[in-house]
Amino acid sequence: MIIVMKQNAKKEQLDEVIGRIRDLGYEPHVIEGESRNVIGAVGDERGKSVLQSLESMAGVEDVVPILKPYKLASREVCPESSLVEIAPGVVIGGDELIVMAGPCSVESEEQIVFTAKAVKRAGAKVLRGGAFKPRTSPYSFQGMEEDGLKLLDLARQETGLPIVTEVVNPRDVELVARYSDVMQVGARNVQNFALLKMLGQLDKPILLKRGMATTIQEYLMSAEYILAEGNRRVILCERGIRTFETATRNTLDISAVPVLKEQTHLPVVIDPSHATGHAHLVPSMSYAAVAAGCDGLIIEVHPSPETAASDGPQSLRPAEFADMMMKLKQFAEVAGRSLPAVGGE
Ligand code: PEP
Ligand code: MN
Repeated sequence: MIIVMKQNAKKEQLDEVIGRIRDLGYEPHVIEGESRNVIGAVGDERGKSVLQSLESMAGVEDVVPILKPYKLASREVCPESSLVEIAPGVVIGGDELIVMAGPCSVESEEQIVFTAKAVKRAGAKVLRGGAFKPRTSPYSFQGMEEDGLKLLDLARQETGLPIVTEVVNPRDVELVARYSDVMQVGARNVQNFALLKMLGQLDKPILLKRGMATTIQEYLMSAEYILAEGNRRVILCERGIRTFETATRNTLDISAVPVLKEQTHLPVVIDPSHATGHAHLVPSMSYAAVAAGCDGLIIEVHPSPETAASDGPQSLRPAEFADMMMKLKQFAEVAGRSLPAVGGE
C-alpha cells in the first residue's frame, strides 16, 4: 500500500503513521518528495487491507494499493527518478550521462592502470573490471580474485575513478565490498536471491544486470529483493537477452530502456559490449541507447583485445573508445544529457 501524506503533514504525524504500519506487521519505507512524503508499506500481500484504516489518521491524505507486484522499485511508490551517488560528484540518474569503462577482466597492473588512465582521458567516470569472473566453461580464466581487487584499488588511486566490479558468490560479498564502489551482479546471478538479499544489507550501490532470459517484471522483482532489505541504491543494466538470432552474442533489448523508465524510478544503464559481442557494433548501439533515454553505459575497453583473457572480440581499443565518446557527446546533447570532460587519445 502507498500512504500519501498531506502536503502540510507534520513530522510527528508521519512518525505516528510509521509506528502504526509497524504495529500492523508491515515495513514502512518513507519516500521524501518535493511537496509531500509518501510511505510504502510492504509485507504480506494477503492481509494488506488492514492498512486501509490508516486513512483516518491525522496527516494522511490517501491510502492506495500498489498495483505492480514489485513495490519499492515501482514509479507508483516513487514518481521522481532516483539519483544514485556512486562516489562524490559521480551521480547516475540525473542530467549527466555516466559512462563506465574498462576491461572485461583485470589481468595485470600494467593492463588495468593503462586502461583506467585511457578511459578517464576519454571521459569515463567509473572504471569497470572483473576480478571474479562467471565463465560458462570451468576451464576458462576465472579471474584474479583478491589480487585483481587490489589492482583495481591501485588503478583507483592512480586515476581517482570509482570502481564497479562483480561479486559472483555470496561468500565473497564482504571481500568485494571492501574494494569496490559499486558491486555488480552479473546476468547469471540475477535470480540468486540469497546474494541479492545480502547486497540489500550493504550501504553501497549495486549494478544489477538483467538476466539473459529474464522478463522485465522478473527483473524488477529481483531489484525489489535488494530494495526490500533497505538498500535503495540499485542501478539497472540491460545487457542483451537470448533470442533465436546468432549474428550478435545476445539481442540488445533497446525497448527495455523506455519500458523500465516508465515502470521504475531506478537508473538504467546499457551494456552494448555483452549485448552485441562485437566491438564494431558497440558505438552504434551506444548511440541508440542514449537516444532511447538510458542514464549511462558500461563498455569493455582493452589495450590489446587480441590478447585479452576474456571477451576480447567485444572490447574496444582505447583510441576507438575515445572516438566513440566524442560522437556520443552529440547524441547525449540531443537526448538532453550532458557528457562533460571528454578528452581524446
Ligand atoms: C561482465 O560484465 O563482465 C559480465 C560477465 O557480464 P554479464 O553478467 O552481463 O554477462
Ligand atoms: Mn565481459
